[in-house]
Amino acid sequence: MKLKNIGEVVKWRLCAGCGACAYACPENRIKLTDVFDDGIRPVIENEKYCGACRDCMKVCPGHELTHRSYDHVPGLIKELQEGWGPVLEVWEGYASDPEIRFRGSSGGAATALALYALEKEGMGGVLHTGADEGKPLKNKTSFSTLRKELIERSGSRYSPASPCDSLGKIESSARPSVFIGKPCDVAALRKAEALRPGLEKKVGVSISIFCAGTPSTMGTVELLKSLGLEAKGAGEVRYRGLGWPGLFTARLKGEKNPSARLSYKDAWGFLQKYRQYRCYLCPDGTGEFADISCGDPWYREIREGERGHSLVIARTERGRFLIRQSIEAGYLKLTRTGAKMLVDSQVNLLEKRRTIWGRLAAMKAFGIPAPSFNGFSLFKIWRSLDKKEKIRSILGTSRRIIQRGYYRRKTT
Ligand SMILES: Cc1cc2nc3c(=O)[nH]c(=O)nc-3n(C[C@H](O)[C@H](O)[C@H](O)COP(=O)(O)OP(=O)(O)OC[C@H]3O[C@@H](n4cnc5c(N)ncnc54)[C@H](O)[C@@H]3O)c2cc1C
Ligand code: SF4
Ligand code: SF4
Repeated sequence: MKLKNIGEVVKWRLCAGCGACAYACPENRIKLTDVFDDGIRPVIENEKYCGACRDCMKVCPGHELTHRSYDHVPGLIKELQEGWGPVLEVWEGYASDPEIRFRGSSGGAATALALYALEKEGMGGVLHTGADEGKPLKNKTSFSTLRKELIERSGSRYSPASPCDSLGKIESSARPSVFIGKPCDVAALRKAEALRPGLEKKVGVSISIFCAGTPSTMGTVELLKSLGLEAKGAGEVRYRGLGWPGLFTARLKGEKNPSARLSYKDAWGFLQKYRQYRCYLCPDGTGEFADISCGDPWYREIREGERGHSLVIARTERGRFLIRQSIEAGYLKLTRTGAKMLVDSQVNLLEKRRTIWGRLAAMKAFGIPAPSFNGFSLFKIWRSLDKKEKIRSILGTSRRIIQRGYYRRKTT
C-alpha cells in the first residue's frame, strides 16, 4: 500500500517525530503537536488545499530511507559497511574542557565538536535540542551561537524532540552552521538538503548521536510517578550528564536540589518500554547519514566515578577533517581505535538491525504499509540470523500487529 501523505505516515505509526515536514511545507500548513503517549506528530491544516505538492513526503524519513551508493568512496572500513553504514575512522575519547565532559551525556564529544566549528571554523550557529525552560518535560529546538548556550543544551534528552522543525534557521543563517540530531533527524536533514539547495549550502557539518529509540512524554511522566513525583510539580528534568553514564534527576519547582535521582541504567530500563513504534523498525541507530556520529563506548564495564568517554565515528571527509582539526586545536582528546570497538559497544543496535527485514516482512504479509529502506543490506544480515531468530523476528511482529490492532490505521 502506497502512502499518500504525511497524515497517512502518522496514521500508520511510521512518523519518527523529526519535524522536517513542518519545515518543508511551503504553505506553512503543518503544525507539530506532542501526542502524550506517542511522540511529536504533524497535523496538516486545510489539507484539501495541498494540491499535488508532496514536499513534506519528500523530506520524511519515517516512510523511506535510501543510502546513496558509497561503494566508490575510498578508505571506508569494509567490515563495518553492512551493519553500520559508511565508516572512515573510529575514535574513543572525550572533550578536553572538563565542564563539557562532565555535562555531556558520554564524553561531551558532540558539544566539543560543535564548539570547535563555532569558534574556529567560523560557523554561524548550532541547531540542536534542549529542555524547554517554560515546560520542563518538553524539548525545544534552539540555534545556539555561544559556548554557554551549547553547554546548557548538552546531554541526551530521552523524550520527543524535533530538531528539523527549525531547519529554516540554518537556511537563513549568514554562514554555514552545525546540525545535531538523532539518526532519523539527520536522515531528514539530508532529504531536506536535496529538496532545498539553499539549505544544503548552509549545512557546515552534521553530527548524529546514537539512538535506540525515543520514549514518549508519557514515559517521563510515569517515571516521575514511580519516583513519587507529580509531573506538574517538576521544575527541571535531566536524563543524563553530570558524570558518566550520568543520572536521571528531577528537581521540583522552587527547590534548589533534585528531589529524585535514578541511575542511567534504571531510568533507560523504565523509559524504553515507552518508545514510539517507528523506532522498532529503525535500521539506523548510529547516524549513517551524518558527517560524524557520537555514542557511548559501552564495550567495557564503567567504573564508579569514572569520567565521561565518547565513541566518535568519522563518516565523511568533511567529518574526518573536523574531528582531526578539533583534536589539533585542543577541543577533543581522542585516540584512534579499531572497528571491533564499535561492534562491541553497540551489540543491541546491531541485533535490532538484523531483525528489521523480518519485521518488515510481517507487516507486508498483513498488508500494512511498511517503510522502504534501501542500501542497508537488511535481507543479507537477516539471513545471518539462526532459524529460531528468523522465525521470532516475523512471528513476534505478527503477534504485536494482532494484539495491538496495528493492522488498522490510528484513529486519533
Ligand atoms: C533517545 C536517545 C536514545 C539513545 N540511544 C543510545 C544508544 O542506543 N547507544 C548509545 O551509545 N547512546 C545512545 N544515546 C545517547 C547518545 O547517543 C550519546 O550520549 C552520545 O554519545 C552523545 O553524547 P555526547 O556526550 O557526545 O553529547 P553531548 O555533548 O551531551 O551533546 C548531546 C547533543 O545531543 C542533542 N540532543 C539531546 N537529546 C536529543 C534528542 N532527543 N534528539 C535530538 N538531539 C538531542 C543535544 O542538543 C546536544 O547537542 C541515546 C540518546 C537519546 C536522546
Ligand atoms: S517522520 Fe518527520 S517528516 Fe515524517 S511525518 Fe514525522 S515529523 Fe513529519
Ligand atoms: S530509533 Fe531510529 S526512528 Fe527512533 S528516534 Fe532513534 S533514530 Fe529515530
